[in-house]
Amino acid sequence: MGELFEEQLEALRARSLERKLREISSAQGPEVQIAGRRLINFSSNDYLGLASDLRLREAAIGTIKEFGVGAGASRLVSGTQSPHLRLETALAKWKETEAALSFSSGYAAALGTVPALVSKDDVILLDKLCHASLIDGAKLSGAILRIFPHNHLGKLEDHLEWARREHAGKRILILTESVFSMDGDRAPLRELVELKSRFGALLMLDEAHAVGVIGPNGRGLAAAENLNEDVDLQMGTLSKALGASGGYICGSRSLIEWLINRARSFIYSTAPPPGIVSAALAAVNFLGSSEGEERRRLLWERIGLMQDLLPRNELNEKAGVASSAIFPWIVGDEQAAIDLASALQSEGFLVPAIRYPTVAKGCARLRITVTASHGENQIRSLCEAIKRANKRRAED
Ligand SMILES: *Cc1c(COP(=O)(O)O)cnc(C)c1O
Repeated sequence: MGELFEEQLEALRARSLERKLREISSAQGPEVQIAGRRLINFSSNDYLGLASDLRLREAAIGTIKEFGVGAGASRLVSGTQSPHLRLETALAKWKETEAALSFSSGYAAALGTVPALVSKDDVILLDKLCHASLIDGAKLSGAILRIFPHNHLGKLEDHLEWARREHAGKRILILTESVFSMDGDRAPLRELVELKSRFGALLMLDEAHAVGVIGPNGRGLAAAENLNEDVDLQMGTLSKALGASGGYICGSRSLIEWLINRARSFIYSTAPPPGIVSAALAAVNFLGSSEGEERRRLLWERIGLMQDLLPRNELNEKAGVASSAIFPWIVGDEQAAIDLASALQSEGFLVPAIRYPTVAKGCARLRITVTASHGENQIRSLCEAIKRANKRRAED
């Protein structure tokens, strides 16, 4: 058996698709320590620098002192402790929805929720660039799955017509993201809402890379577009801009009660540790504060700087106006992306090479993320290093 995996690994290596873990021996932040070296970190989704924030640390420590470390059981058995309920109340208030439910991760939120909404004979329409958690949730549901080209409203409309015609009376669920995780562009939410209303479909929006970044108090794209009422489910993670860990679904009270009864990743998994839940609550409170708004403004200042300085690259057709903190530097070839990432690493920058199957084959890229805690000079020096690396590449 060992040999079997060795052969499979060798096949990955031959296609420049093998992945390895690397040890980071420091907290998350604009700089991290790898193999005894400080690197400027452009790889994390800690957009507001909250992952090592003192407020979150103290919230977690305070709750650990009071409630201990483990939650002891699933939420429905005896794991619902006061911090979980406080967090959910705060999430619903912040998002301005009737109710909210938290999960152990964003991945678990998707995996539990999608199969609770639709089943065999129902139809899921999913954007081609959706995150693996939505794809896996869709597959697990057993519903009929149709994929529409990225942000392609015409094709989505065709699929909706087809679903209404061929699967009359069945539920139709549209799955998409507000900010796409590897491309950084946004969904045309207003048009999606128009379509979903016209065809009587449900819309579930994954706000993972939008919360904390977009909208009043970082509430995400639905809030920014004033479409809170029209998005049936807002999914998000507490693990990125919110700096903690966990996932959530916000929506109507009956939806949340249904998920408590049907979302298997919620029912059959131990409740998240209360300390982490309190850290997430501190992050939600921070986002709602004027200091949170100020941090978000600073993030957009940094995004604007990166937008101005990052050299254009012809494969990078999305280099219009930055719509998020994610800057994909599309290289194409898998090995070229790895080489570029290691050239940047030798100059002191951590920028991940993203390859198949996270993105399509031949669409490998560097994924640069900007955070509010980056200094202007760190962004300037990264952009200089990219220019140098690009020039060398052109000369080769
Ligand atoms: C990261 C991510 C998730 C999963 O969230 P976790 O809390 O990390 O499990 C879901 N959807 C998208 C778009 C993501 O980028």
